[in-house]
Amino acid sequence: MDKSFNAFKMAQDQFDAVADKLNLSEASRELLRTPMREYHFSIPVKMDDGTSKIFRGFRIQHNDALGPCKGGIRFHPQETVDTVRALSMWMTWKTSVVDIPLGGSKGGVICDPHNLSDREQEQICRGWVRQLHKNVGPLRDIPAPDVMTNGQHMLWILDEYETITGEKYPGMITGKPVGMGGSLGRTEATGYGVIFTVREALKEMNLKIDNTTASFQGFGNVSQYAIKLYNQLGGKVLCVSCWDQQDQTSYAFYKKEGINLEELLNITDRFGGVDKIKAKELGYEVLPGDKWIEIECDILVPAAMENQITGENVNKISSNVKLIAEGANGPTTPEADEVLKKRGIFIIPDFLCNAGGVTCSYFEQVQCNMNYFWSKDEVLGKLDYKMTTAYHKVSKLAREKKLYMRDAAYMISVDRVVRASVARGWI
Ligand code: NAD
Repeated sequence: MDKSFNAFKMAQDQFDAVADKLNLSEASRELLRTPMREYHFSIPVKMDDGTSKIFRGFRIQHNDALGPCKGGIRFHPQETVDTVRALSMWMTWKTSVVDIPLGGSKGGVICDPHNLSDREQEQICRGWVRQLHKNVGPLRDIPAPDVMTNGQHMLWILDEYETITGEKYPGMITGKPVGMGGSLGRTEATGYGVIFTVREALKEMNLKIDNTTASFQGFGNVSQYAIKLYNQLGGKVLCVSCWDQQDQTSYAFYKKEGINLEELLNITDRFGGVDKIKAKELGYEVLPGDKWIEIECDILVPAAMENQITGENVNKISSNVKLIAEGANGPTTPEADEVLKKRGIFIIPDFLCNAGGVTCSYFEQVQCNMNYFWSKDEVLGKLDYKMTTAYHKVSKLAREKKLYMRDAAYMISVDRVVRASVARGWI
């Protein structure tokens, strides 16, 4: 990662550009370009070897005009306040674009779970909520898993919160395991959400999905379920790429007649890494990882990490590509965006395309608050409705005002938050 890259500055620049387009007042700009509240604190932990260690934790609540804040908790050794600030702002736009009654927040702890025992991680989770119990909760701010945290961390946090308050609040946190307050369909939600929006975009482009081909970057949770649904709808995936932990580089796996999802899943580890030797035996061409972007196909799905489609590789995209669906957060740099705009490649922007995850988290919260759980079909049906409606709202504005899809999505999100802030009498 480029050390000079500052995610918060990028988030503010993006917001400033939308603020100009929407002609926002000075007060609106001031309110929305900085988080409303920030909590920075220390978490003392007695380590397994008897020593004491102090971890730094954060929770940043960007805006709650539309409802209680929602956002994940990251455990990362290189966590910075500015990254958490940027991510909290992007959560505000993400919940707003899919029109769910939640604001945006994010949290983090500077730590590396690779070097921590389960007991030490549990102490960090419990310490995190001991510092924050007055400032989070089902009606204030609802955390969720994110980088290097999972359902187990969420349960430790929930248990500590309920111990402190003396009451049961299953809707205090999401991403819990099914059977312990988690929602069916959460595992599929982000990947399926990506394909619900792809399906709608292809209809508008008069392309039949079963005549299309795609190339994916990443083969983790988002890609695996996106590919599953895309295949079910008749689409053919020619290539997937992933990170190889052993070689510390990425590889792309290509098959002209289309990859076989089940076959590849059988040789993939839990981090989304494909075994390259076994893939070769199964007839896959193993290419350098960055080749995923050069594949001649109709659809590209970056679903691995940020900063992947850049000024340097954007011109390698084949002239056949008509659609880019951003499964990852921030995969396209502003420089590459300009080239894509000129080439007329249609984009489904990240905070719309991958909003299926947070939408399903919202469903989890609703189910927990009712203490009544829906079937998987019901969850996924509601998810389809939300994603499809959000997609069409954005694409209609883009067509009517001749806007780039990313700009249209930003305008809808920011406008909703501004209206809520005005309605509350804040600005
Ligand atoms: P994951 O950890 O399950 O999988 C990541 C995949 O990307 C793995 O296959 C890994 O090998 C691959 N990868 C990593 N670096 C790579 C590189 N340099 N080149 C090629 N492949 C590489 O992660 P995920 O949950 O699938 O998330 C993927 C992206 O989607 C992330 O940007 C994440 O923030 C975003 N996202 C995820 C969710 C969700 O619900 N999982 C929701 C919204 C956004």
